[in-house]
Amino acid sequence: MTPIGVLVSGRGSNLAALIDRTRLPACPFDIACVVSDNPAAGALTLARDAGIPAFVHEKLPGMKKREYEREIVERLRAHGVRVVALAGFMRILGETLLSAFPGRVLNIHPSLLPAFPGLHAQEQAHAAGVRYAGCTVHLVDAGTDTGPILDQACFRIPEGLTAQDLSLRILEHEHRLYPQALARFCRHELALVDGRVRSWSPLAPLRPVWEAFSATHFAREAPAAPVPGRPRVAVSACLCGFPCRYDGDGRFLPRLIDGLAQVDVFPVCPEVLAGLGVPRPRIQFENETEAAPEQAPVIRDEHGVEVTAGLLAAADRIAGWCVEREVRVAFLKENSPSCGTLRVPCRGRRVPGPGPLATRLMKAGVRVFTEENFDAGLLTLGTSFIPSPEPWEQTPSREPGKDENSL
Ligand code: SF4
Repeated sequence: MTPIGVLVSGRGSNLAALIDRTRLPACPFDIACVVSDNPAAGALTLARDAGIPAFVHEKLPGMKKREYEREIVERLRAHGVRVVALAGFMRILGETLLSAFPGRVLNIHPSLLPAFPGLHAQEQAHAAGVRYAGCTVHLVDAGTDTGPILDQACFRIPEGLTAQDLSLRILEHEHRLYPQALARFCRHELALVDGRVRSWSPLAPLRPVWEAFSATHFAREAPAAPVPGRPRVAVSACLCGFPCRYDGDGRFLPRLIDGLAQVDVFPVCPEVLAGLGVPRPRIQFENETEAAPEQAPVIRDEHGVEVTAGLLAAADRIAGWCVEREVRVAFLKENSPSCGTLRVPCRGRRVPGPGPLATRLMKAGVRVFTEENFDAGLLTLGTSFIPSPEPWEQTPSREPGKDENSL
């Protein structure tokens, strides 16, 4: 579940559409707070009626844009916001706000961009006599409505439609498109590659696994009960090729797809579960270790905000699910402060040690493998848990028997 902050200036009809979306099951975002630059904005009442914290930040005369935006950034961060959605916010964002949420500020514009950017787009379209109109959800950059396009909705304009009716028709499309695009963005299905947005869709055999992952992690619910008789295996989502923080290099995908017939794969991602797994640009976590290795390390996000508690709670929850669902083996991503291994202090140096999820799973009796000993893990799975070991048995092990849990 990704916490979003919504910036508004007016009555907030798009905010209402976003609030409605959060009430649907498995919505991957929730609205952490609403900020308005206009104390009279109807959107503020709308937010408060829905129980969402709402704040006014007016730009006072003489106030520098940088200072003004810094206040808003502090407010958004105080509410744990990871993604910012502009919903009729009548200001051009500056460097301070954009760099605080790089690649994570979205806007909806009432035209088919790049046509008719700026104010009064609907009137511009009507005056130009265009035959098609629509709206665009895009990432915000320093220009006016110039950021990469995430999605668009389009319709043919009926003969004789007035400018006012056209505005209303476009607004109906906005209310459908914005929540949908935001949900896809928060579910990592829209990725920015080389300045262009690409839709991500898992390979056909992996689609049910991705859907199960989305349904459980974004809704923070336990996964469905396993198929009887099939061993259940937890795998870091990015090792499945799902677009979490590391993208997944796909190295394990072919064998994972082969294995789908023999094991139930249960993809896990503490960062997504903690609401931190926002896709692009990659979020950089740092773990700072305390003096004693047994103490939990402090984990900070790219802003230096401490996120340890959220991540540890997510790891606890996943470990609990694994125990309930009788997961016997886990394959975890290395070099992740949340999953397989992180840096822990040892004789004045920092060396790889088990990460939060690995620690909890091992304590619960789950056999943990990372990429380093992945092959040994497959062999263990084949020989210990799968009656007919094809194809795992043929997988060479680096050092059979030695690698288990050797984080
Ligand atoms: S928490 Fe684990 S699964 Fe999620 S992105 Fe990090 S390493 Fe990958």
